[in-house]
Amino acid sequence: MFKLKKMTYLVDKENTQKEEDNMADICSCCGRKIPFFDAEFEYIKIKDETYKVCTECNRKMNACSSGDISVEEVISAATHEKLADYLRNFKSKAQIDNEVNSIMVTSGYNFEGYRIIKYCDYISAETVFGMGMFKSLLASISSVVGAESEAFNNKIKEAKARAVYEIRKNALELGANAIIGIDIDFSMIAGEMVVIIASGTAVVIEKI
Ligand SMILES: [Zn+2]
Repeated sequence: MFKLKKMTYLVDKENTQKEEDNMADICSCCGRKIPFFDAEFEYIKIKDETYKVCTECNRKMNACSSGDISVEEVISAATHEKLADYLRNFKSKAQIDNEVNSIMVTSGYNFEGYRIIKYCDYISAETVFGMGMFKSLLASISSVVGAESEAFNNKIKEAKARAVYEIRKNALELGANAIIGIDIDFSMIAGEMVVIIASGTAVVIEKI
C-alpha cells in the first residue's frame, strides 16, 4: 500500500513538471522563458494580439512609462516587432499631459499675436458627477454654507477642469493647437447628476 502511494507521488511530480514546461511562455520583450512561478508577468494587448512579458520587463516598462529609463533600455534584439513599435510610440502620462496642456484656450475668438490658419471642427467634452451627499444640501439651497458649499464648489471646479482637459485632448487629436470660443455649460439630470459640458472650436494658430 505504501509503495503504491509513493509511486503515485512520483507520477504526479512528473506531470507537474510537464505542466510547468507547457505553461512556461517566452517573454515577448527579452525572449527569455517566463518561469512558472513568475507571478508578476503582464499581458500587454496591442490591437488584437496579446504579448506576455516577464516581471523584469514589466518593471522596466513601468520605469520607462514614468520616464526613469529610456525605451532603448527596454527593447532588446528579442523584442517582438509590434511590441517594440508600441514601446517606441508610447507616451507617458506626463508627456501626454504636457501636450494637452499646451493647447491654448480662449472664450474669445482670437489670440493676441497669433493668427488662425485653420478651423478644424466644433468639439465638446463632458464630465459627470453624482450629486450624492450634495443632494440633500441643495434641497434647501440656503443651508449650503461654509465647508459644505466649499466642498461642492471644489467638486464643480474639479469637474470643470476635467472637462477642459478632455476638450483639449480632443483638439490635440484633431491636430489643432488651440480652442476658440470655449464655453462651459452645466446641467443637472433628475437632480441626481451634474453634467459639465465644455465646447468650442478647435483651430490651428501660428505666431504673426
Ligand atoms: Zn522579459
